[in-house]
Amino acid sequence: MALLIEKDTICALSTANGVGAIAVIRVSGEEALTLTSKIFSKDLTKVDTHTVHFGTIRDADNNVIDEVLVTVLKEGKSFTGENTTEIACHGSTFIQQQILNLLFKAGCRMAKAGEFTMRAYFNGRMDLSQAEAIADLISADSKKAHEIAMNQMRGGYSDNIQHLRQRLMDFASLIELELDFSEEDVEFASRTELNDLVIELKEKLTLLTESFAYGNAIKHGVSTVIAGQPNAGKSTLLNALLNEERAIVSSIPGTTRDTIEERLTIDGILYNFIDTAGIREATDEIEKIGVERAISQVSKSNILLYVFDANDLTKEDVKIDLKRLERDGLSIILLANKTEDMDTAKFADYSERYPVIAISAKKHAGLDALKAELAKSVASLATESDTIVINARHYEAFSNALADMSKVEEALELQISGDLLAMDIRSAIRHLSSITGEITSDDLLGNIFANFCIGK
Ligand code: GDP
Repeated sequence: MALLIEKDTICALSTANGVGAIAVIRVSGEEALTLTSKIFSKDLTKVDTHTVHFGTIRDADNNVIDEVLVTVLKEGKSFTGENTTEIACHGSTFIQQQILNLLFKAGCRMAKAGEFTMRAYFNGRMDLSQAEAIADLISADSKKAHEIAMNQMRGGYSDNIQHLRQRLMDFASLIELELDFSEEDVEFASRTELNDLVIELKEKLTLLTESFAYGNAIKHGVSTVIAGQPNAGKSTLLNALLNEERAIVSSIPGTTRDTIEERLTIDGILYNFIDTAGIREATDEIEKIGVERAISQVSKSNILLYVFDANDLTKEDVKIDLKRLERDGLSIILLANKTEDMDTAKFADYSERYPVIAISAKKHAGLDALKAELAKSVASLATESDTIVINARHYEAFSNALADMSKVEEALELQISGDLLAMDIRSAIRHLSSITGEITSDDLLGNIFANFCIGK
């Protein structure tokens, strides 16, 4: 697919499909003001940028289609960088369609998916990672995901990458210059300084790649598995949480037939709760499979809520269960359930390693303490990186650049020749550049923007 930037004027509905009180149709391109003026009661070609105009839209027979407000944003001062009008009309689908048809007749073309954002990128209004952040921002359905996407859209790691990439380029050029003087055995690029830069880059890239686990969890939901013995109260707990947050429940069948998943936002963070079959010593083959699946579910999760019946299980029983579930990087919270008529103090020492909270799933007691502990666990997933990688494409590029840096480090240690060194540095530069879009392929761009909706 050729993605040469097209200069024609495009239009599309930019608000959601369907009936709303108001709909906004966006027009962008060199001729946006002239073409909009053709269907509007006022000449917009002479007005100032960032002004709003009230008037009517009429069809060829002079019938009034709607009374609208048109916002004018001129070249260099709009989202796309081109002349833009935004027609705010009444929200009926009939009106929307009529106005779009009139715009087509006037000479506009229907915008392709993501074409407004693509033009913004081509016109230098933003780099590629910022354009992608817009897609993330639109799909962000929790406060935290919104925060990360917003940070990225406003520049996020762009500046940081730019700076490091430039320093790498300087080294690559110097090393390549050495190659031109290869007979004279000169060294323009200080290997010590290059090594320092490699160490600094490796640290930064490691932080960024590590942040992806957190970014991914925030974007798609922190996977939180509820496990424990049968009848511990796991389902009751999940229902209690859903009720408390007044979640509109749409159960997703779990990855196995023994699990149920529910998505729920608590204090601005999206969680993906997975209720598993009970864990206990299985007596028959089928139950054994269920238990194994529950355990494998735990191994893929960020947080484990281990629920036990406080009337039933001793500290030792709990320890035996936990031994089967623990693993590195998994946050575990112990929930002593059915404690409504009990002295809860005695559970404090059930674990030396994990927090223990006494709850009554049935009576909704202790849930606030649980929510606070969940928030702490999510915070502990976050790495030290000030910018969070939330996009899988960026993660891959950072990981590749990190691998290249390790190769450079090794090459320096082994005093390998300059041409090989330069090759690995160039490869890292390519990967870093692919994030901000200095180096891209049409296929890649086509892919990224096709994932946007029309009108964005
Ligand atoms: P699961 O097998 O772990 O999912 O357990 P359920 O949620 O189905 O609960 C098993 C039984 O324990 C049910 O009869 C629940 O009503 C009961 N139960 C759950 N939570 C509590 C609680 O906090 N207090 C009391 N007394 N009973 C509970």
